[in-house]
Amino acid sequence: MESDVKVPFHRPSIGEEEIREVEATLRSGWLTTGPRTHQFERDVAEYVGAPRAVAVNSATAGLHVALAALGIGPGDEVITTPLTFCATVNTILQVGARVVLADIGPDGNIDPAAITRCIHERTRAIVPVHYAGLPCDMHAIWQLAQRHRLFVIEDAAHAIGARYYGRPIGAMHGTHSDAVVFSFYATKNMTTAEGGMITTADTRLADKMEMLTLHGIDHAAWNRYGAAGSWYYEVQACGFKYNLTDLQSAIGIHQLRKLESMHAVRTEYAHRYQKAFSQIAELETPPDDPRSRHAWHLYPLRLNLETLTISRSQFIEALRDAGICASVHFIPIPLHPYYAAHTDLRGDSCPEALKLYPRLISLPLYPAMTPEQVQYVIDSVIKIVHASKRVTAVAVPGENERVHALVAAD
Ligand SMILES: *Cc1c(COP(=O)(O)O)cnc(C)c1O
Repeated sequence: MESDVKVPFHRPSIGEEEIREVEATLRSGWLTTGPRTHQFERDVAEYVGAPRAVAVNSATAGLHVALAALGIGPGDEVITTPLTFCATVNTILQVGARVVLADIGPDGNIDPAAITRCIHERTRAIVPVHYAGLPCDMHAIWQLAQRHRLFVIEDAAHAIGARYYGRPIGAMHGTHSDAVVFSFYATKNMTTAEGGMITTADTRLADKMEMLTLHGIDHAAWNRYGAAGSWYYEVQACGFKYNLTDLQSAIGIHQLRKLESMHAVRTEYAHRYQKAFSQIAELETPPDDPRSRHAWHLYPLRLNLETLTISRSQFIEALRDAGICASVHFIPIPLHPYYAAHTDLRGDSCPEALKLYPRLISLPLYPAMTPEQVQYVIDSVIKIVHASKRVTAVAVPGENERVHALVAAD
């Protein structure tokens, strides 16, 4: 039987500042892309350390626009990870390119050695995903990209607030990617309800992406002829309708100001989980890396299934019975019917992702949780583990089955 929800999977942290700014935007008469979106772009650019930031109405739109603006299309191959949200793969397919999956490493991120094996003469770009908010091995990825003249577009949907060797993800000084795409979807580390941002160091690329977010309309032409008549515009590309509104940016401006304090709470809660679960043989805690600052967007706990009598989905059901909502990130790309039927993406390209997938449970982790809720999740997980421990007193093959047959006969 299902009890009442005690710990939802997510709750956004929206304060009075966001509410007042949205109200002020509504009263200002300027609802769509305008002064607040431009401020939000400047604020994100400054926060991560990038010369340009282009606002978009989702990270999906950001990935699509970045791929299109870099000229990636039919005949090209783009390498990405199997352990990601479908948007990463869909946008590559939508520009007409072929997706190639490079398997994950022990940290759950794309494995540079696997990328190396996937590079061919048609490869044009790498789209690494900072899984759960843990930065990928970017030095290895940038090195491969330089050697093979590939673009790098980071899917940083989980990674606003993350740092790599002390530098924010999205930063554009020193060695850097061509574009970094953030998500401000409702469940992400900061939100505009729906929204995203692309950072880049390349002014021409930024201008092109900006143009593509608004039908391919050329702003420069508008400005050139604006004095003569503001009705004039030129369509310079077959663009999209991907612009972020000032109503959304009104939320984002204040979310960004709270990001550091929200990240501190996430980190504290994640460390509580890490401390509690690292003691338990039936569990494996999600990897961290001392060279990076984890954004802790997700807490993907790993079950040591061979030590448990229940499956991952039974574990999730037991959590639900305790009023705790958990999730799974992600169903590996080749397991989805669409890719199986309409692409050449197959599971044999990513055995590590397929092996990890049945072990993954994302526990609730967000700053709106109370410390009591965090403790309740810890206690509940441990209780479920104790109730479903596999009896492994004797390490003789066949012995487990015999022990269980005896227990079952009881
Ligand atoms: C959420 C997510 C996206 C898509 O973000 P939207 O802003 O909802 O479009 C892309 N990639 C990953 C890895 C995500 O988790």
